Amino acid sequence: TSFVVTVSRVDTDAASGALVCFEDITHLEQAGQMRRDFVANVSHELRTPLTALMGFIETLQGPAKGDPRASERFLGVMLSEAQRMERLVRDLLSLSRVEADERVRPTDRVDLGKCLSGVGHSLRPVAQAADVHLALDLPETPVIVPGDVDQLTQVATNLIENAIKYGGKGKTVHIGLTTDANALSLRGPAAIVTVRDEGPGIDAVHIPRLTERFYRIDSHRSREMGGTGLGLAIVKHIVNRHRGRLRIDSELGQGTEFRVILPAYPQP
Ligand code: ADP
Repeated sequence: TSFVVTVSRVDTDAASGALVCFEDITHLEQAGQMRRDFVANVSHELRTPLTALMGFIETLQGPAKGDPRASERFLGVMLSEAQRMERLVRDLLSLSRVEADERVRPTDRVDLGKCLSGVGHSLRPVAQAADVHLALDLPETPVIVPGDVDQLTQVATNLIENAIKYGGKGKTVHIGLTTDANALSLRGPAAIVTVRDEGPGIDAVHIPRLTERFYRIDSHRSREMGGTGLGLAIVKHIVNRHRGRLRIDSELGQGTEFRVILPAYPQP
């Protein structure tokens, strides 16, 4: 805990004495530390692909000059390093945009079923390439929430992409949408989006930290899968902006379920 203590002399007609003020600045120090950690992380994440790119450029200018096979191979690796930097910059921009308008609650009418089937449709090729089956279970009647359609699409995309990436080959990712006329956590009507995989599960010690920026259980695996470590941080901020809740339940060896609980309009 950090305090700033100020002492001043007070003289009035009635009395004189000293005024001692204690100001708790722990939260300010913590915020400062978090900002410094974040900048250090971003620099590290950008420098790694940049160093690789520079190494390959030097090799192409020197030892591998004029070798068409080496050039082709190195150019392929250089492209994937550049794509990694692009993904990181894209996620950083999304994160800063969501943070900037987190106080303003979005008010468009979003049809969640439509949003989920759209995301399911566009991720089908990704799932197929990973040999993962996508199972959508959506209600017949529309479920409408006040929200930002692009941001809710991003939440669904990030969660489903993760379930495909970490769920494992030959497994199924279950995507569901239900409603609750009176959700306890929101004290009102809610829409609940669930994304469940049949992967190895997540150890309970990691769960509270998963939505921190750049927190990964296995950094090597995340990078190999093209992850930036920012996906769940973005999800968390978007859910906060919608005044919703994010719940993560996981059982080792069984799989993981992410649940997004959003305030909804009362259902007919
Ligand atoms: P990344 O880009 O690394 O996937 P995320 O913020 O999306 O970053 O996720 C953070 C970490 O949470 C991942 O690195 C991974 O270790 C873990 N994770 C996320 N989703 C799942 C899942 N469905 N199953 C197992 N682990 C997961």
